[in-house]
Amino acid sequence: MSSAIIPSSNSGNEYADDEQPTTRRIRLLSIHLNPPLDHHHRHQLQLEACSARAKMDVNADKLSTYLRGKHRDIQERVFEYFNSRPDLQTPIEILKDDYRELCLKQLVALIREAGIRPFRYVVEDPAKYFAIIEAVGSVDMSLGIKFGVQYSLWGGSVLNLGTKKHRDKYFEGIDNLEYLGCFAMTELHHGSNVQGIQTIATFDPLTDEFVITTPNDGAIKWWIGNAAVHGKLATVFAKLMLPTHDKNGVSDMGVHAFIVPIRDLKTHKTLPGVEINDCGHKVGLNGVDNGALRFRDVRIPRDNLLNRFGDVSRDGTYTSNLPTINKRFAATLGELVGGRVGLAYSSVGVLKIAATIAIRYSLLRQQFGPPKQPEISILDYQSQQHKLMPMLASTYAFHFATVHLVEKYSQMKKTHDEQLVADVHALSAGLKSYVTSYTAKSLSICREACGGHGYAAVNRFGSLRNDHDIFQTFEGDNTVLLQQVAGDLLKQYQEKFRGGTFAVTWSYLRESMNTYLSQPNPVTARWEGEDHLRDPKFQLDAFRYRTSRLLQSAAVRLRKHTKTLGSFGAWNRCLNHLLTLAESHIETVILENFIEAIKSCPDANSRAALKLVCDLYALNLIWSDIGTYRNVDYVAPNKAKAIHKLADYLSFQVKNIAKELVDAFDLPDHVTRAPIGKQSPGEAYAEYTQYVGF
Ligand SMILES: Cc1cc2nc3c(=O)[nH]c(=O)nc-3n(C[C@H](O)[C@H](O)[C@H](O)COP(=O)(O)OP(=O)(O)OC[C@H]3O[C@@H](n4cnc5c(N)ncnc54)[C@H](O)[C@@H]3O)c2cc1C
Repeated sequence: MSSAIIPSSNSGNEYADDEQPTTRRIRLLSIHLNPPLDHHHRHQLQLEACSARAKMDVNADKLSTYLRGKHRDIQERVFEYFNSRPDLQTPIEILKDDYRELCLKQLVALIREAGIRPFRYVVEDPAKYFAIIEAVGSVDMSLGIKFGVQYSLWGGSVLNLGTKKHRDKYFEGIDNLEYLGCFAMTELHHGSNVQGIQTIATFDPLTDEFVITTPNDGAIKWWIGNAAVHGKLATVFAKLMLPTHDKNGVSDMGVHAFIVPIRDLKTHKTLPGVEINDCGHKVGLNGVDNGALRFRDVRIPRDNLLNRFGDVSRDGTYTSNLPTINKRFAATLGELVGGRVGLAYSSVGVLKIAATIAIRYSLLRQQFGPPKQPEISILDYQSQQHKLMPMLASTYAFHFATVHLVEKYSQMKKTHDEQLVADVHALSAGLKSYVTSYTAKSLSICREACGGHGYAAVNRFGSLRNDHDIFQTFEGDNTVLLQQVAGDLLKQYQEKFRGGTFAVTWSYLRESMNTYLSQPNPVTARWEGEDHLRDPKFQLDAFRYRTSRLLQSAAVRLRKHTKTLGSFGAWNRCLNHLLTLAESHIETVILENFIEAIKSCPDANSRAALKLVCDLYALNLIWSDIGTYRNVDYVAPNKAKAIHKLADYLSFQVKNIAKELVDAFDLPDHVTRAPIGKQSPGEAYAEYTQYVGF
């Protein structure tokens, strides 16, 4: 008999790998005298004991009130409206062209019939705006994206890059959907590298117009939402060319934004000089009509330059408060972060839906069990808990982090504080990339966690996965965005060594550089008590330590490689290191916000539940990167083991309140289950539950 499968009485574990031979012999003898319960029976008792163990008292309603905050009502209005209109729900089988028309119909009905008028909130109350977009995207992600193209991208560019004259002229039409529009930045040859775009806008002083030109095929605007079928106007990003009297004839003033009509407002015919093509059937989001735009010397009035950061006078003189092309470009892109904030926020919404479906299903689905005993719920399997409980914890963590991002964004919109602009830029880049990548991976895990039934279209995973996938790419490719976070951290690091101050968001680095980078304390490295491991200070210190080390070592490596490879080459040589640094930093920011959110929760039971979830989030991440901590003896072997054990235990505890935790997301049935064909969601649900036992 192998010792590996002998139940050990002297250890809390199933297996006794470290047992002395004499002890083992004595134990074997005692087993003969007192035979243990059979393995399955023991397992069952363990499950029962665990299940019976002080389950936390959680009131899903109270928790939900805290989570959903003051914008619950507007989200309810969106959900109730679509629930009351089964004719507007997207069927599982639908052709691309029909889907596009349905998507427009859904949008028009929401705005004109349900009376949800979101545009004014884009600037006045961004938190309310993002709450609406999250709810709309939960109903149908194509609709959420079409909504976002209209109000965040096209509408947002007019409000944020234009001036009063633009607001006065376009606000009402954008709000009521008369001016359906596009945001035309990406070109066939340039997506991430926006400064590389080639479309040009040349000022003609004779006619007081700009001439918009696509100089080559690579400069065709590509992937432009609303362009293929519905859009009437577009914000087109182009290099502004001003005539000069020198030998060049023109001067490149950098990328600017222009309002270009593309279809006739009355007849909807494509306007002269504009060529529109369809980007065709996509992996997902087929309710959105993405198209390509080519401009053959299209003339627009000078007033159509969105002139907040740079203007051209009647005689062709250029004026701007910002001295360089780079500063103007940064200011322009800085004003467009709203789309990114919305994506991060909506991605958490998608994660909530996926986690809700997978966890509810796993609670009810039963497979296998001890002999002659009822089958057990699949969520009682440790492996299933391992797949879903840290994910549930991350969903909560991301919720609070994106709420924080929205708060900062709203503050920034009010104050236009320069530091806040930089902060929100880096935070939105980091959270958008981290959260959308996590959600994309989780959608596959959730599908798999629901077995074959997860593959039924009715359970939404297929459409959620396909529709959400591109969140990782648009509004900034995730790998590119993480580099902006790393770049920002390094800038802060350099400033520290030049005696400058650290920005608000990154302030922990100031401390950590002094505190954490000294040798790990050999005494605390061995502390393994539950109180210590669940102390937010230990958790935050560990996260900050990791980030600080990564930052310091990245800086050292970059300095070394720059000498031989130049700065571009050195950056590329250290790229994976830099991406890990950015992720580590974002994880730290997420944990900080979670800890703060717990403190502010008014209900004691909810607070206790959130603390449990937060501890799981923190310890699971520490355990996932335990090699880093062990390498430098930040945690001793006994402590590493204790972290692992506690993370497993917390996962189990979270499982016990998983139902209440997903109930607190408070998602309506028609969001967590797709309608089958043309049935109403209620009928579809009733029919489906007969087979699956949801
Ligand atoms: C469905 C859909 C809708 C869209 N809607 C719009 C819209 O309405 N308006 C609009 O203007 N655009 C839109 N886009 C375009 C979108 O914003 C771009 O696709 C996105 O910015 C990425 O650019 P790209 O496709 O050129 O990818 P690339 O930049 O070519 O990236 C390709 C790969 O190279 C990697 N890579 C690139 N640069 C680096 C680097 N420096 N370091 C490391 N890796 C790098 C990326 O990580 C990525 O994996 C849409 C795209 C899609 C698919």
